[in-house]
Amino acid sequence: MSATWPPRYDPAWRPAPDAEHWAPGLECAEPKKRDEVVLAKLRAQVQYAWERSPFYRRRWEAAGVSPARLRTLADLAKFPVVQKADLRAAQAAAPPFGDYLCIEPREVARIHGTSGTTGHPTVFGVGRDDWERIGEAHARVLWGAGLRPDDRVLIASFFSLYLGSWGALKGCERLGATVFPFGAGLPGQTLMAVQWAREMSATAFYGTPSYALHFAETARREGIEPRDFGFRTLFFSGEPGAGVAATKRLIEATFGGACIDMGSMAEMTPWMTNGECRRRTGMHLWQDIVYTQVCDPETFAPVPYGGEGTPVYTHLERTSQPMIRLVSGDLARWTDEPCPCGRTYPRLPGGLYGRIDDMFIVRGENIYPSAIEDTLRAIEGFGGEFRVIISRREAMDELLVRAEYAATHAADAPRAALAARMRERLRARLGVTPRIELVAAGELPRTEFKAKRVIDDRDLYKKGVANV
Ligand SMILES: [Zn+2]
Repeated sequence: MSATWPPRYDPAWRPAPDAEHWAPGLECAEPKKRDEVVLAKLRAQVQYAWERSPFYRRRWEAAGVSPARLRTLADLAKFPVVQKADLRAAQAAAPPFGDYLCIEPREVARIHGTSGTTGHPTVFGVGRDDWERIGEAHARVLWGAGLRPDDRVLIASFFSLYLGSWGALKGCERLGATVFPFGAGLPGQTLMAVQWAREMSATAFYGTPSYALHFAETARREGIEPRDFGFRTLFFSGEPGAGVAATKRLIEATFGGACIDMGSMAEMTPWMTNGECRRRTGMHLWQDIVYTQVCDPETFAPVPYGGEGTPVYTHLERTSQPMIRLVSGDLARWTDEPCPCGRTYPRLPGGLYGRIDDMFIVRGENIYPSAIEDTLRAIEGFGGEFRVIISRREAMDELLVRAEYAATHAADAPRAALAARMRERLRARLGVTPRIELVAAGELPRTEFKAKRVIDDRDLYKKGVANV
């Protein structure tokens, strides 16, 4: 690593196809050695933001910190965190990019954004050099996931302001693979994607886990066995499913390829710096590209390895809209136990298994939708989709799980046995006995994007009380 910041990469360089690692000197380094590289990049990134961003200077001065205070990686925790609401406020005050844009607006090469379905949309301005570095980072992580230049990648997700698809495309291009940006979301498009995937002999798939399962159902309706596509690698972002053990097993059993979990946040692009390797032991944190700490959700101090908290991310080579200590709001446990791939990065063995605000409490128990998904998908006879409805009856919370049964369990006796099994396994996992309501497979709507499976009716109740 040269002392130049931001780093420059040779766009033509690529490892030999049989090499396991793209940058073994960083990926497999002794962590303390790599931390020296991380610290040098971090100090340059923080100095850069201090000089160019009123947003950071204002917040850091208020907190009594400055780049001079950053002597060790541990010092980073003295810097205040950034919440998404802070970014939205900065963009409202200094539209459209906010006063954390550190390049001239005319140097922005790509404009992306959140969909704005919840809250005001956030605008992302990505500089031209940043976009090239994003491609470099994604190619490196995809290499670790097992992608090679002879792969033919079907990108089956929205091509819109959504950064996920474009980031996947850019990484595959830099890696030298053949990319096939099919998209998703138009009427009839899944059926077409099934046909094209077969005719083009795609070897890899990108999308959301829910969409991959929908894609498989569509293929089977057409008489195509999903294993016959020959996908070697399926990589995912956008929702936690690929890190949910039972969903991962289901995707691998369905397609016969490796199911790879990836993704941090759009703001943190290159979002693949949370990325599994082909051994699939949980997402590695590619610390020399984005420095990630799993932190206590109240104090934002890093928790020790083995602990649970929320990932807090810091860019190390972003010049357009650098994020320094952005709080994700996701929940994860991290570990530094070794991975057979030889990378020495910390890992999130269970992926991002929930959100601080997704978690709901029923009768005093903390419940994550991903735990319900994991439990149901491990039960034979589950039909593939479910909803969770929480209500309150006479001041008692009630948890209703509406789940599909497979065609094999349609008769009365197996259906009753299935409901009983679901109730029992969920009770054991959650500590709360749910009510089970079974519906036929295919009855609950499928999503082509991020699944929204929890309905909390108690909010209405709470509002009623608040108005009294
Ligand atoms: Zn690994």
